[in-house]
Amino acid sequence: MKILIVHAHPEPRSLNGSLRDRMVATLHAAGHEVVVSDLYAQGWKATLDGADFPTEPPGARLDLIDASHRAFADGAQTPDVAEEQRRLLWADAVLLQFPLWWFSMPAILKGWVERVYAHGFAYGVGEHSDRRWGDRYGEGVFAGKRAMLVVTTGGWAEHYLERGINGPIDDLLFPIQHGILFYPGFSVLEPFVVYRAERTDAARFEAITADLDRRLAGLFTEAPIAYRRQNGGDYEIPSMKLKEGLERAGQQGFRLHRA
Ligand code: FAD
Repeated sequence: MKILIVHAHPEPRSLNGSLRDRMVATLHAAGHEVVVSDLYAQGWKATLDGADFPTEPPGARLDLIDASHRAFADGAQTPDVAEEQRRLLWADAVLLQFPLWWFSMPAILKGWVERVYAHGFAYGVGEHSDRRWGDRYGEGVFAGKRAMLVVTTGGWAEHYLERGINGPIDDLLFPIQHGILFYPGFSVLEPFVVYRAERTDAARFEAITADLDRRLAGLFTEAPIAYRRQNGGDYEIPSMKLKEGLERAGQQGFRLHRA
């Protein structure tokens, strides 16, 4: 199978760099094809701005969604964006790999999403009417592909539990897993998270990578997170509110969107 790793760490000798190298080796050994988008090494431009739309009329007010739509439809995107889109379409599975920085992904990776997820490509697809909000949340360009986050944190695992001070890790990752991955159609696997990353020595690295190898072995067989599909009947139309009574007792917040 074909696997794209989008890697966001500036230091190749970091733990993230080591985990990236290990993932490439493990996936190659299993017979997969692997491409790495190493965002810092590529000098990825992190900000979405007018330079992304060189064919827009000079001096015109920049409407980002319209400009994105035109650039994608007309083949007028910058080559770096078009190349990342090609990689995404090529891949059967995508791994987003990053250290948790300020409770989210590093800015360079957010900027990759903002620039690569063009209108008409990753959003704004399908019928938009008073009956339907397009092909999203379980449908879209990446339907049939799998995705998984590989994340390291400084905080302890306990800090990210239900009552932990940082908030539950599933809640913190919800905007990425549900908003960025499930929205354009990926089937999203449970994340692979390394907590308290600074406390990694050779022995712990072996244990972490053994766990990671097991997760990679299940990349195409593990059951994905059971996020509810937008067009699967669980939401009222057009309000897109979850229908009353579908939740389990006590289920609330982001968890409502897991069947
Ligand atoms: P590194 O610091 O590179 O390495 C960690 C340890 O792994 C080191 O001891 C290193 O020697 C060891 N190691 C590396 N490679 C190997 C190998 N091959 N074999 C054995 N050992 C190895 N944390 C949070 O929990 N929440 C936050 O919101 C948060 N915000 C942050 C914001 C910023 C701007 C920064 C810089 C950090 C933040 N952190 C936060 C901490 C951050 O998540 C961790 O520092 C990061 O996850 C560690 O990953 P790394 O790849 O940078 O590790």
